[in-house]
Amino acid sequence: MKVLLLFIACILFTSGLNAQKTSVTVVIDPGHGGTDPGFLSENTKLLQEKELNLLIAKKVGSYIEENLQHVKVVYTRTDDSFPSLEDRVNKANTIQADYFISIHCNANDQKKVHGTESHVHSLESKKSVSLAKEVEKEFSTRAGRKSRGVKDSDDREHSLQVLKFTSMTSVLVECGFLTNEKEANYLNTTHGQEIIASAVYRAFRNTIVQEFTSIAFVKPEATVSKPKKEGAEEPKKSPTEKYAIQIMSSKEPINTSAESFKKIGLPVSRTKLTTTAAYKYFYTVGSYTSRESAKADLKTVQSNGFKDAYVVKIE
Ligand SMILES: [Zn+2]
Repeated sequence: MKVLLLFIACILFTSGLNAQKTSVTVVIDPGHGGTDPGFLSENTKLLQEKELNLLIAKKVGSYIEENLQHVKVVYTRTDDSFPSLEDRVNKANTIQADYFISIHCNANDQKKVHGTESHVHSLESKKSVSLAKEVEKEFSTRAGRKSRGVKDSDDREHSLQVLKFTSMTSVLVECGFLTNEKEANYLNTTHGQEIIASAVYRAFRNTIVQEFTSIAFVKPEATVSKPKKEGAEEPKKSPTEKYAIQIMSSKEPINTSAESFKKIGLPVSRTKLTTTAAYKYFYTVGSYTSRESAKADLKTVQSNGFKDAYVVKIE
């Protein structure tokens, strides 16, 4: 009887905790690091896999922090260190994270092979599969990448430790093949990293919005444009940095004076990328000398019909 009471008390306690859930935690894991460089390109001008993973992972985290509320972002590493795979898994399990997203870049003996993949431990884990599918959907539809789909340990013929032992929704994203010259060059550009990171961000946002319907993740407009304090110190920046707000990309060029752009109230610039990606035209507004000043305009742009707009560094 005592055992039964304890059992019921436990159920009540746990369901109480779920009902009170007001935020979600995501662990972002930049693959490799430190003495483990991951894939090393023959071209020494290109970044090592561990460096690209960290750059992309940090962008994913900052898009989440900039655009969402009630989400706690925890990294397994933020510098060139190498936490063991066990440490990464333990960290996520100990803090009882809700999501684990590992960022990697791929390699293949055949240089032709290119595209993105999202890995899960097992196709049985529905939530992980759903997040992985969402990531691949964003890659193929919005980021203009070739999606190679969702893979599990049977496809790989081995398990990935960070996916096998993490007890939450876990996905390992392969952002592209560093053995493919075009894809390696793309991943080495800031623009490429931003496109990849924003796709992962959108997939994550869509997933949590669907799963935790009682939490308002998207920041209300009111909290956005903070009035500037008189004499407030501007964050230090290099004088050559320039930022803009990217509003969309397209396969075919769209006239920048198109009706849909008018409501933004800012002139739109179109840039053509020298890439084989389908979405080679991208559109930005504004020119800012700091990320902060660009962010001040971002919410206005988002609320004028471009809800996925984000700040990009253009110089
Ligand atoms: Zn890797």
